[in-house]
Amino acid sequence: MNYTCKDCSYRGKSSGQDGACLACGSFNIARTRSQEEKPRPGKLRLALLVALWVYLIGLIIWKLNH
Ligand SMILES: [Zn+2]
Repeated sequence: MNYTCKDCSYRGKSSGQDGACLACGSFNIARTRSQEEKPRPGKLRLALLVALWVYLIGLIIWKLNH
């Protein structure tokens, strides 16, 4: 979890054990969502690729059965 300190503007990956700022020890911090939660542009392409494969495999199975 990322956070930004409102007192010293320090940005860190995670705050201390008690939730205080690592730089100044202030509890006046704002937690921000990590960059991992940004939608990845490659994820949609991967889903499209998987869907295409499922379609092709389904087509092959259908051809074998008919
Ligand atoms: Zn601070």
